[in-house]
Amino acid sequence: MNSDCLFCKIIKGEIPSDKVYEDDTLYAFKDIHPKAPVHLLIVPKKHYPTLNDIPDNEMGIIADIHVAIKKLALEFGVAESGYRVLANTNKEGGQVVFHVHYHLIGGRQLRA
Ligand code: AMP
Ligand code: ZN
Repeated sequence: MNSDCLFCKIIKGEIPSDKVYEDDTLYAFKDIHPKAPVHLLIVPKKHYPTLNDIPDNEMGIIADIHVAIKKLALEFGVAESGYRVLANTNKEGGQVVFHVHYHLIGGRQLRA
């Protein structure tokens, strides 16, 4: 938990979110500025600023995120039509919120 972190505050419920999934280690919610009809954010509850900060022996959380993504893609009806998963990392990667998160985007034709 980082008290200055927006997503830590969302996970704790201090800032409201449109939650779509939660378990012991993950939290997922709708992006506040959706870029497509389906735009979800999947985050580890543990605060890691970027992918670079996850120790090798804790990388299992990334597999867990992908298991959740697979379920959410089905639930939100984009598993077959198609979707995009991305994790912006650091400044040139376009990262704005420095708490690891994966975007799940779909529901329209996405361009490269
Ligand atoms: P990134 O550029 O990968 O760091 O993306 C951060 C994402 O967080 C953006 O798509 C924002 O629209 C989203 N975001 C920022 N604040 C909130 C919030 N309070 N609730 C939901 N999504 C948010
Ligand atoms: Zn955080």
